[in-house]
Amino acid sequence: SWFPFGEAIDNVCRSMQMEAKRHGHKLEKSFVGTLPRVWGDRERLEQVMLNVLSNAVKYTPDGGEIRLTAGTEGESVWMEVTDNGIGIPEEDKDRIFERFYRVDKARSRESGGTGLGLSIAREIVMQHKGTIELVNRPGPGTTVRVTLPIGGKADGSL
Ligand code: ATP
Ligand code: MG
Repeated sequence: SWFPFGEAIDNVCRSMQMEAKRHGHKLEKSFVGTLPRVWGDRERLEQVMLNVLSNAVKYTPDGGEIRLTAGTEGESVWMEVTDNGIGIPEEDKDRIFERFYRVDKARSRESGGTGLGLSIAREIVMQHKGTIELVNRPGPGTTVRVTLPIGGKADGSL
């Protein structure tokens, strides 16, 4: 069904605020223009955003900076989460969307989780005919970008 994209992002941000604060992270959110309603499964798309945002919180040393931005581009909406954390080594970038793939097994075990988050996220985004990808930015940290067609799949499902 149709749901306000900005409201969904607000929700996700709000639910991570405590955890971000606990780690001394600065969590900033900004929208470029006004965000439209989007056709899709709101609950599952919030799950996507939550995983991406929680990864930023988890894989950034305490006192980090996490920025969530969103906007529209043509017939799509996009959302980006940027952190200044440990980053993802070049040789792992193609693999982090695979099931159970984690960059540093020992370190990841400490921080909990299963290594399924991004593979599930990709699954959900693909069901919406969207994309999820890493954005190459100079400097340390990670940027993940999600784009979704505003009108959903052409056949109106989901
Ligand atoms: P789960 O999401 O199931 O709790 P997870 O967060 O480890 O576990 P994914 O979300 O699938 O799993 O992420 C896969 C791996 O990609 C992570 O284990 C981590 O090594 C790496 N990764 C993901 N996001 C970031 C990030 N923002 N900074 C650094 N590494 C990241
Ligand atoms: Mg995760």
